Amino acid sequence: MKLTLREKDKRFRGMAAILTAAFLAAVCACQEGGPQKEQQILQDEGEMRGEGAQTETENVSSETEAKTQNVSSGTEAETDSEAEEAVPPRANGRLVCIDAGHQIKGDSTPEPVAPGASETKARVSGGTTGRTTGVPEYQLTLEVALKLRDELTARGYEVVMTRETNEVNISNSERAGIARDAGADIFVRLHANGSEDSSVNGAMTICQTAANPYTGGFYEQSKSLAQNILDSFCEATGAGKQYVWETDTMSGINWSAVPVVILEMGYMTNPTEDANLCSADYQDKMVLGIANGIDAYFMQR
Ligand SMILES: [Zn+2]
Repeated sequence: MKLTLREKDKRFRGMAAILTAAFLAAVCACQEGGPQKEQQILQDEGEMRGEGAQTETENVSSETEAKTQNVSSGTEAETDSEAEEAVPPRANGRLVCIDAGHQIKGDSTPEPVAPGASETKARVSGGTTGRTTGVPEYQLTLEVALKLRDELTARGYEVVMTRETNEVNISNSERAGIARDAGADIFVRLHANGSEDSSVNGAMTICQTAANPYTGGFYEQSKSLAQNILDSFCEATGAGKQYVWETDTMSGINWSAVPVVILEMGYMTNPTEDANLCSADYQDKMVLGIANGIDAYFMQR
């Protein structure tokens, strides 16, 4: 929905965007030696950057083409559809690493809970299972992660996945390493919750504490990311809002080199929420909510 509105909005921005494109192209051409600077310039463009400059020229030609076709076909709906299909997503300079929690089989081999820590935890646990649906958490998280990848890509983000199949063995620290090595701006980890009390429901997000000796340096960013995703997720899905849990017990957070969040999407032990989590419609809402939260986070940077 949002993308469609964006695409439509873009079509009405006309000459201003084209002039911006010319200006940014000139500026970027001067920054070829320094990709970091170039990215900063694009980021500083804020809202204008969201509409992007790089493919505006393509849009002009496709729009012209669509208008020409409109004369013969005479249907506005077709024109919209063709124009949208002709415009590729625009890079916004942000890289998101998505981690679909767990995997087909847990691995209890210990690994340090943080860089250099003597305390250990299992490399990766098995996760929970839908009490009603029987769907394993690792399958649910991957389904949502793949949809989120597509949504973020459509919004112009670059996306790196820690996994795209269930048949992997990647520890929590290794997942954080994938985000770090990719140079991700943020590390978003998807999980589902469980409780002995089947009435418990709702979403929560998790980040480090400000005192975390390993990741405290970017606590503020992680907290902001966690709050934005929780707020937008609950708004889009109607799920109950629990809270942002600040804890230093999560290996994948302690090992992270970039702002990081775990989203507990809901309780697979609650029959209603379990069914929701596994339904395609609800998953679409979850993905919209997460993507909106990520957008909101970057808008505040
Ligand atoms: Zn989990």
